[in-house]
Amino acid sequence: MRSPRAWRTAERPDGVAALELRKLVKRFGGAPVVDGVDLTIPDGAFVALLGPSGCGKTTLLRLIAGFLAPDAGEILVGERRLSAPNAVVPPEQRGMSMIFQSYALWPHMTVEQNVSYGLRLRRLGRDEIARRVATICTAVQIDSLMQRYPGELSGGQQQRVALARSLVVEPQTLLLDEPLSNLDANLREEMRFEIRRLHDEFRYTTVYVTHDQGEAMATADLIVVLRAGRIEQSGTPEEVYGRPRSEFVARFVGGANVLPGRFAGLDVPFSIRLEDIALLRAAPPEGIAPVEGTVVRRVFLGSARDYVVEAGGELVRVTTPPQVDVQPGERVWLEFPPERCHRLDPVFPVGD
Ligand code: ATP
Repeated sequence: MRSPRAWRTAERPDGVAALELRKLVKRFGGAPVVDGVDLTIPDGAFVALLGPSGCGKTTLLRLIAGFLAPDAGEILVGERRLSAPNAVVPPEQRGMSMIFQSYALWPHMTVEQNVSYGLRLRRLGRDEIARRVATICTAVQIDSLMQRYPGELSGGQQQRVALARSLVVEPQTLLLDEPLSNLDANLREEMRFEIRRLHDEFRYTTVYVTHDQGEAMATADLIVVLRAGRIEQSGTPEEVYGRPRSEFVARFVGGANVLPGRFAGLDVPFSIRLEDIALLRAAPPEGIAPVEGTVVRRVFLGSARDYVVEAGGELVRVTTPPQVDVQPGERVWLEFPPERCHRLDPVFPVGD
């Protein structure tokens, strides 16, 4: 098996985009489900396609994989055109592996047979297959499970087998469609770090579909927020979380407050994160004029407290350290630090 570094660079020089999506459109009869997506995915990057159910994430991933042909636009790798209307390089010739939500392991094959399947299909020598399977199964930590059948594995172990099976063929790009949604919360957290660790070890390009903003933030270098088939915003997790451009992104990614400008002396609505608002028990003598309000709800989260405060006719959510302990019904003052208030673009309604 090639070294992790060689894996990434063997067929593509550094600095070349792994994937270029240009004005990509896909319809299923009526309105477009993918509606003019332009996106450059850098080689070796971990990109999350994030958005609510039905926004077109899976369709976009299937276009990238070559399972679907676009109605307009194209997908390129360097000079090579992978997809255009009526001209799609088949999935098995794109240097990509895809992992589905259901894992899609073959139930009648052992772990070893599942993982080696793609190599046997390529008619590699027996020793080469054994060497590659051993390397990847050690990396994915399933080397003690080789003779088991999928039905004898936990959900997390099945997910690891699916990863090994996808990686053993040394893809340039790994595509994952909601890979963790069948796992319980603890395993989900463990596996998201695992998926990132393997990405860093082998340095392929990853495109990861999820509707879970925490998952996207924990794994990705670049988050692409989709809404109704269009890119609403793309950027690093810090950019998308910290400087949302629209009310949709502020609410969907950050769970942030979206408030009228008057709270912070602005002329347009703004977003502010729950932890960026200061909750005071008395009006401060000087500084920014705070907004007076009443606590209507308080939830203890262990490491923090979540408050809902009615202030100026709005319900404002605030997260504080657990030491800040105010009863529902008490008066409080909220401070909105100007540098934490992000002006929002006007909202363009969509048809959903
Ligand atoms: P989810 O998180 O629920 O899977 P998604 O963002 O991945 O959502 P898609 O699966 O891409 O969304 O679907 C987007 C829209 O396209 C949906 O309204 C869906 O019903 C529709 N759609 C998807 N595949 C097809 C198909 N093969 N034929 C007709 N409509 C489809």
